[in-house]
Amino acid sequence: MKYELTCINCPMGCRITADYDGKEVTNIQGFTCARGKAYAQTEITDPTRMVTALVGVAGSHKPLSVKTRNPIRKPLIFDALQAIRETTVRPPVRIGDVVIENVCGSGVDVIATENVE
Ligand code: SF4
Repeated sequence: MKYELTCINCPMGCRITADYDGKEVTNIQGFTCARGKAYAQTEITDPTRMVTALVGVAGSHKPLSVKTRNPIRKPLIFDALQAIRETTVRPPVRIGDVVIENVCGSGVDVIATENVE
């Protein structure tokens, strides 16, 4: 199967093409640097995404913005969003504090992206 991707790792947005037979990615072309080649391999075989969302704050109507510290595997995103939705934090919270450890067994923590007093 032939894939056409746009690398999202920098503003150049290189157009990358590759073949995938269900086991191996081959004939990767169009990337300018090694990050693009690695991106194509991951995107085709096991895509990942950063997740950003809001969690409730105890005693406040204003939610706290959070994100995954690193991208998580795409099949885990729905469950991760559900886990985030069910979470409430207690102030104070600092940027970078872990809000959910190892969300859904992804190996990635959900962290705060703002301070709450
Ligand atoms: S392949 Fe390299 S240069 Fe091209 S968009 Fe990706 S990161 Fe940027």
